[in-house]
Amino acid sequence: MTDLWIATGNAKKRVELERLLGGAGYRILTIADLDDPLEIVEDGDTFAANAAIKALTLNRITGELAIGDDSGLCVDGLGGGPGVFSARYAGPDASDRDRIDKLLAELAPLPTDARRAHFVCHISVADGGEVVAEFTGECHGYIASEPQGDGGFGYDPVFVPDAFANREPAPTFAELDPTEKDAISHRGIALRRLVEHLTTADQSRS
Ligand code: IMP
Repeated sequence: MTDLWIATGNAKKRVELERLLGGAGYRILTIADLDDPLEIVEDGDTFAANAAIKALTLNRITGELAIGDDSGLCVDGLGGGPGVFSARYAGPDASDRDRIDKLLAELAPLPTDARRAHFVCHISVADGGEVVAEFTGECHGYIASEPQGDGGFGYDPVFVPDAFANREPAPTFAELDPTEKDAISHRGIALRRLVEHLTTADQSRS
């Protein structure tokens, strides 16, 4: 197993990262594994800017190659929002359920097209104090009229991915098996690109 530092404090996201990267031979270390607590201020305007802030901060503190991941949900009817504000959409102390309720309330008066949405995951790799590689994954679908399922995290109970929209009834991310979500999710796509890059980099070093 090769250690890989990832700048996340989100325990549920860590579960997905371990599932996706563990199989490729990586042991995940996160902010929770640092000796001193670390709070990273994500004040970038884009997923790329926030991913770079996270990766560079962790790289500086550990002195090791570090990964920063920033992700969020972009909804057509909200002009691409909540986007980089996905985690803070309903305020700093809100729950996943609060954010989902706010999203459904904002979309309720809008036409069906407004419910088109996609998740984005941007990954930045920092080494030696600079960003040395970046990868992005997207997953497109629509926002359901009510929450369904209790798997996953965040907005999973209201996001119906296009890849499974023909299944009867169409499942949300929260109703898919974890491996089904990984196969099509924004994070799965971006992380597979990252693994390909790390594997190639390891091979050229040996
Ligand atoms: P981050 O930790 O700054 O990347 O915050 C991303 C936020 O976007 C999370 O807290 C979730 O609310 C949302 N999000 C990102 N990826 C997913 C996903 O796969 N499913 C559901 N919500 C997600």
